[in-house]
Amino acid sequence: MKITNVKARTVFIPIEAPLRHSYGSPNGFVRSIIEIETDEDITGLGETFGWITDASLATIRDLIIGEDPFNLEKIRVQISQRGYLSRQPLLLAPIEFACYDIQGKAIGKPVYQLLGGKVRERVPLSAYLFYRYPDASGEGEVTTPEQMVAHTKDLVQKYGFSALKLKGGVFDPEHEFQTIVALRDQFGPEYKLRFDPNAIWAPSTAIRIGEKLRHYDLEYYEDPAWGLNAMANVRSRVAMPLATNMSVIEFEQLGPAVAMGAIDVILSDPWYYGGLLHTKYLDMMCKTFGLAVGMHSGTEFGVGLTAMLHVASTMPNLVHAIDSHYHHMVDDIIEGGKLQYKDGCMAPRDEPGFGVSLDEDKMNKYEELFKKRQQAADWWYPPDPQRPKWFPIVPSW
Ligand code: MG
Repeated sequence: MKITNVKARTVFIPIEAPLRHSYGSPNGFVRSIIEIETDEDITGLGETFGWITDASLATIRDLIIGEDPFNLEKIRVQISQRGYLSRQPLLLAPIEFACYDIQGKAIGKPVYQLLGGKVRERVPLSAYLFYRYPDASGEGEVTTPEQMVAHTKDLVQKYGFSALKLKGGVFDPEHEFQTIVALRDQFGPEYKLRFDPNAIWAPSTAIRIGEKLRHYDLEYYEDPAWGLNAMANVRSRVAMPLATNMSVIEFEQLGPAVAMGAIDVILSDPWYYGGLLHTKYLDMMCKTFGLAVGMHSGTEFGVGLTAMLHVASTMPNLVHAIDSHYHHMVDDIIEGGKLQYKDGCMAPRDEPGFGVSLDEDKMNKYEELFKKRQQAADWWYPPDPQRPKWFPIVPSW
């Protein structure tokens, strides 16, 4: 089998209400869908961050066209080892996903079986809780601790989540601490509660607030401060598991993180680490070093989330519910509509490959929305209107 073509389409899907976090306030998510075609009429799907476009693929098109999609190690090396600045994980990962989708379709097996087989039937997901602005009809604002509790109750009732993650880094740390207090007050110890200020606090703030948070049984404290030195400092002072998807985002950073005693939970990411197979390797390496594993979310659509579910179902050391922004989205670009939650979990499909296909009407609709959206200079992350010129200075608080 040979790869005959590779293409990318970038799409924008609106969300229920504008989310607030330290990078800005998006009212929708942008992703790129990758398709790889072969000479056996099998097409594979991948997905990646929205700044990888058809033009980005031009740099690697000649490397993979004519290649056998089963030759993944060769494809990986050709894309990611072409120079010291060209690791290109966000380009490599969707190519790898699409090749696995092709492999599964070619041999009639789901991708999870190509990755070693399932160790769990269902993959738990967390409720990703954001402070939000109201939507166009004036509904959906989440600012106060009381509003966050009401919003979370809705999500728990609707989707069955038992892991709750609050995204902070928006308000004064005391306000965000009070939100955790209110959430814990409402949701007892049967609910896992995690908190992520997006690495914008000074280590001293992270220690001070961490000392208070310690009494609220957090599953973990995610990226309270920026960098391995600060994380090691916080971890040495606050008796709570620390997680990261910001200080460790590639294999090379694992060694220093372990040597410095900076992290308890590595939040894996099939994009950052260059694909599904390397996410499996990460799981094994974390086990070796006595670290637990979770999974970061970068606003995946149905193809990307499906890829996450396939690999997550095969990772023995993945002990924390995976993160996902999915419940904020109003629609998806896969056939059959949005993936469904059951008791806060999802399962990979059993059809060959990933088991998902594109809804071309939705692709066209949301590609058009992206083109309109792209005309704005701040299309990637619109600034938060209540602090338009704000940017995180480390330390911010
Ligand atoms: Mg994070």
